[in-house]
Amino acid sequence: MDSGNLSGRNTLGLKAQADRVVLITDGVQLEPALTEARPFGPITVLGGGSNVVMHPVQPGTVLLMNILGRELRADDGHRVILRVGAGENWHELVLWCHHHGLHGLANLALIPGSVGAAPIQNIGAYGVEVSQFIRAVHVMDRETLATQVLAPESCQFRYRDSCFKHEEGAQWIITAVDFQLDRNAPVCLEYPALKERLSAADPTHDAVLAGVMSLRQEKLPDPVVTPNVGSFFKNPVLSQEEGDALRNNASGVPLFAGPEGGVKVPAAWLIDQLGWRGVEKQGVKVSDAHALVLVGCGAQTAEPWLTLAADIVASVESAFGLTLELEPRVLGHPQQIAS
Ligand SMILES: Cc1cc2nc3c(=O)[nH]c(=O)nc-3n(C[C@H](O)[C@H](O)[C@H](O)COP(=O)(O)OP(=O)(O)OC[C@H]3O[C@@H](n4cnc5c(N)ncnc54)[C@H](O)[C@@H]3O)c2cc1C
Repeated sequence: MDSGNLSGRNTLGLKAQADRVVLITDGVQLEPALTEARPFGPITVLGGGSNVVMHPVQPGTVLLMNILGRELRADDGHRVILRVGAGENWHELVLWCHHHGLHGLANLALIPGSVGAAPIQNIGAYGVEVSQFIRAVHVMDRETLATQVLAPESCQFRYRDSCFKHEEGAQWIITAVDFQLDRNAPVCLEYPALKERLSAADPTHDAVLAGVMSLRQEKLPDPVVTPNVGSFFKNPVLSQEEGDALRNNASGVPLFAGPEGGVKVPAAWLIDQLGWRGVEKQGVKVSDAHALVLVGCGAQTAEPWLTLAADIVASVESAFGLTLELEPRVLGHPQQIAS
């Protein structure tokens, strides 16, 4: 069992203490770890800590998922199925696949965190979502200890969402993910900023990977230097009719094609209209570079992050009638830990 200090294990750099922390490096350790953890209260799973806002007190047991391994399960010379342990680093997987000529994931380069967390919010960037490549998710039920292999349909992947964020999937712990990748996949250039960056008539996978990485490095703060979790808010998804109504209330609002014939509203635009960019309160600031990103400048607990986020949500609600949803998950209890 590791020390219960989680302060170095979240990209907001928040002080947090768990009753118990258990490192899981192999799937076979999970069942006994869950059985042992039962009397101590709730069980929380943590990957890289890049999409969580941790309160100072994490009751019960925190399982640090560090199951490694990449295994080629099928290869028809064209498409492959790759099984990857939940603890593998996401960006390293993207690079490894790219260097082995297995294509599809380049648009998702440089997203921090672990493979096991990727299905949770169906990570996405530059016109691609990870669910496009997932063929199976291997899970263990934290209550019954039953294992299961979930087909993509059972995961209910949606925009930054899946069953794992809701009651029906909250009991699952992800141990591995099967991806289908393609040696002959075309590049994906649907995202306008990426298309603009790659001026060549026929961009290669190398160019897409380099383009995505350079765009991200320009726009997003490095969490090693500046505490952040990437986007703090999800972009609201509306029906076409709701989008038209919003246009009457918010002239000039850009609307993008969303899932199921709906429209996606850029939350950054809404936040920008209300003058939040650059605003700092209690050691947390709305990034100067991107209104969707909150950055830390001294805050050491979750509260100032959640307070600034709540202020932004209330102001967007009152101006535009839209409720912004937080993208990161909030973990634990607000009580202060003894220093
Ligand atoms: C600079 C920056 C840029 C980002 N850019 C993007 C982006 O472009 N697109 C995007 O989608 N996200 C982005 N993110 C968010 C984040 O990187 C992803 O959500 C990532 O998948 C989180 O991985 P993690 O291992 O750090 O998860 P954690 O933060 O450790 O956990 C996130 C949630 O998943 C749960 N979880 C983790 N592992 C497991 C598991 N094995 N089984 C069950 N539950 C689990 C946790 O309990 C928690 O609720 C960004 C974050 C940062 C800091």
